[in-house]
Amino acid sequence: MDQLKSPLIDSFDRHHNYLRISLTERCNLRCSYCMPVDGVQLSPAEHLMNASEIFSIAKTFVKFGVTKIRLTGGEPLVRKDFQRILELLSTLDVELSLTSNAVSIDRHFQQLKKARVKTINISLDTLNAERFHDITFRNYFNRVYQNIFKLIEEGFIVKINAVLMRGVNEDEILDFIAFTKDQPVAFRFIEFMPFDGNQWKREKTVSYQEIMEKVQSAYSTDQIIRLQDAPNDTSKNYAIKGHKGTFAIISTVTNPFCDQCNRIRLTANGKLKNCLFSQKENDLLTALRNKEDLEPIIRQNINKKFEIRSGMRSPELFEDLKHHQQNRSMITIGG
Ligand code: SAM
Ligand code: SF4
Repeated sequence: MDQLKSPLIDSFDRHHNYLRISLTERCNLRCSYCMPVDGVQLSPAEHLMNASEIFSIAKTFVKFGVTKIRLTGGEPLVRKDFQRILELLSTLDVELSLTSNAVSIDRHFQQLKKARVKTINISLDTLNAERFHDITFRNYFNRVYQNIFKLIEEGFIVKINAVLMRGVNEDEILDFIAFTKDQPVAFRFIEFMPFDGNQWKREKTVSYQEIMEKVQSAYSTDQIIRLQDAPNDTSKNYAIKGHKGTFAIISTVTNPFCDQCNRIRLTANGKLKNCLFSQKENDLLTALRNKEDLEPIIRQNINKKFEIRSGMRSPELFEDLKHHQQNRSMITIGG
């Protein structure tokens, strides 16, 4: 085994041990909060990391103490060499996980198990088939819904991510919570966040406080249990007494949790981002192809990480769309 090097610690003493790798800029859905209406300019194929380049960069991060790798996208499962990537990464000493829209996940159960993937995050923003089409512009509700049950049956730990948007799906908060009564899933409400081209407005974001008020309107204080959050957890976790599942809120807009951040992101075209909202990126793929040492590039990237949301400390700064127009669309970052 390669010798471990000193960990990736930034100037705010945050240890970065969690790498999220976007495998593709493509997707089989068109979620309005993620994919701009006119689509995105896709990188030419030769500018994307191939399977062995992904492995090589991931291996470098493991040497710097990364213990967890999440595969995301775009939709990671649309990559034709997904199985190969999974096989390669499963040889590393890391916890591997996946974020997917679940449209085609039932074709991958065996390879996911073989790679020791235990926890899978699935996006589902509504329990209504027609509304699913309105949000994603595709008719895959039944597939996704059934695949969630199949994942549970197959023994995976399932987390469901729902981006709440006012006037779109905030009326389903209690339905999502009711879903956790008999299903052992963690339903995670994500505050709608601004990215290039997603037509974000502050008024469309349903806040942590509003979500909790809705829950409190239906359940008494002694039925709502505040759970212990895991270290570096981005979500505040709860359960309703007697429910098999739990629910959580990810409140990047109204209550950022940057002080605990342990994440680094690698885009499908090999750029390193130290924050979801960072406008500056470092090109690891070109450096790898030029046989340069990646360590100084990675350390410089981590050192330059801002304390909060890439420097957007105040709500005013965060809500100023010009900052987000200088960032990417979410589909090309990998959430
Ligand atoms: N295609 C996969 C999926 O949908 O799960 C993985 C990629 S997707 C970009 C990763 C996560 O980002 C999803 O849970 C999605 O809901 C979330 N996401 C995308 N755009 C968002 C936004 N504007 N605000 C909050 N979450 C967002
Ligand atoms: Fe595709 Fe996921 Fe973005 Fe939806 S959220 S468009 S499924 S990448």
